[in-house]
Amino acid sequence: MDSNKINSPDDIEGLKELAIKEIENKKDLVTEVSDKIWEYAELSLKEYKSCDLYCEVMKKEGFDVEKGICNIPTAFRAKFGKGKPVIGILAEYDALSGLAQKRACTEKEIYISQEGTGEDAGHGCGHNMLGAGAMAATLGIKKYLEESRREGTVILYGCPGEEGCASKAFMARDGEWKKIDAALTWHPEDCNEVVTGSSNSCIQVRYTFHGIASHASATPEKGRSALDAVELMNIGVQFLREHMSDRARVHYAITDAGGVSPNVVQSNAQVLYMVRANHVGEAVELQKRVDKIAEGAALMTETTFTREFVDGLSDTVTNRTLEEVAYKNFEKLGVPTYTNDEFEFAKKLAHTYEEHDGIPGLGTPFDPEYKKEIEALKKKKAAECAFERAMNDFLLPHFTKDAFEPGSTDVGDVSWQCPTLQIHVAAWPNGCPGHSWQNVSSGGSSIGHKAELHAGKVLCATAIDLYEHDQILKEANEEFKERTKEGYVCPIPDDAIARV
Ligand SMILES: [Zn+2]
Ligand SMILES: [Zn+2]
Repeated sequence: MDSNKINSPDDIEGLKELAIKEIENKKDLVTEVSDKIWEYAELSLKEYKSCDLYCEVMKKEGFDVEKGICNIPTAFRAKFGKGKPVIGILAEYDALSGLAQKRACTEKEIYISQEGTGEDAGHGCGHNMLGAGAMAATLGIKKYLEESRREGTVILYGCPGEEGCASKAFMARDGEWKKIDAALTWHPEDCNEVVTGSSNSCIQVRYTFHGIASHASATPEKGRSALDAVELMNIGVQFLREHMSDRARVHYAITDAGGVSPNVVQSNAQVLYMVRANHVGEAVELQKRVDKIAEGAALMTETTFTREFVDGLSDTVTNRTLEEVAYKNFEKLGVPTYTNDEFEFAKKLAHTYEEHDGIPGLGTPFDPEYKKEIEALKKKKAAECAFERAMNDFLLPHFTKDAFEPGSTDVGDVSWQCPTLQIHVAAWPNGCPGHSWQNVSSGGSSIGHKAELHAGKVLCATAIDLYEHDQILKEANEEFKERTKEGYVCPIPDDAIARV
């Protein structure tokens, strides 16, 4: 490559082609890593083998690897290049309990891998693919940095415990995401789209009440019931609901009712609370009001309580500038294509759940016109072939109105510290439920392998645009500043430790 020509548009495309080709060349490695992580199926913060595998592979690929960053043993940083801009690619690799499932299988069939921890776990959120796809992007970017000889750094971030502890929020507390110029990531989904809009911030706190045990009939006056405190706390929260914002949510589960004997005054009882709001600052404030209700319940029952922070994460700050760049690259690269066998597999899998003929896309619940557009696209695609197309093998138009995901992701905390982009790539059939055995099955199949490789290519091409055009990052940063002007309130207390 002639370095004099590097900044002309043609050469940017040439460099992208080289980087994409590199990802193709690394296909076997990417697939192998994805399959191994699928087999390991390690739960949040127990991803020792998965983390070791990434660190080992990245070292071999010429990256500087640091394991156990931000005091989280299974988090890592794998860095290549030097100087600015610094682009972070986010990988996740934790599995979910109760979802052990045979790969590429269209029936629910429990499979507990010899390679795994022996737990009944499976990659029900597709994080085996998520990590492998992020790694693929990073390898492509490394090739680009070498070929272009341009200044810039890429970091593959190993972010464990997405399902169980929100490690990215802990990393945000340490200011990790402030050190980079942009973060790019993806998530396996049932369709191909660039993600926009926000999600809910979420904070979990466990309250354990302590009372005095006593014979409930002989000496009730001597007892102080911890279970009463839990019940009164829950009632107090029911009254709080009238005075909080519409989009806020409060969920609870009684995790210890203090025993099974009604004739004993319960000396201990425990309740786990989850507070969600559209903005992290609001969630933190709402959570403080729940704390006050716990104090009130303790006062009323003459009990005491301990409060234990479990985890917390923030809402997502969207970045249209990055979305537009990603969309152009996605359009250019197209979407994964499938063999007849893969379509057949997808069709069979899709018929194991109800919603297989729904209309995909994060924008569809918010805009009837957009929904109609997707419906028409689906019909057009369906007319092109004789059999049922359970896979959404087209790119959804970029949704540019407000979208809101009531669920939560710790990518939110990254997005409060640097411009952040997410895309979805179809990794399972249309309408496939989240956290399901069907996800585990598809994520271990050739459809999953295609998704991760493709996601890697789109993220890589997007990153190249960011290295090549200072203006894009400048605009992304201006937008980021505007959208985060109210300030980031980290939901993680200073003394909290990442755990599950
Ligand atoms: Zn999940
Ligand atoms: Zn996930």
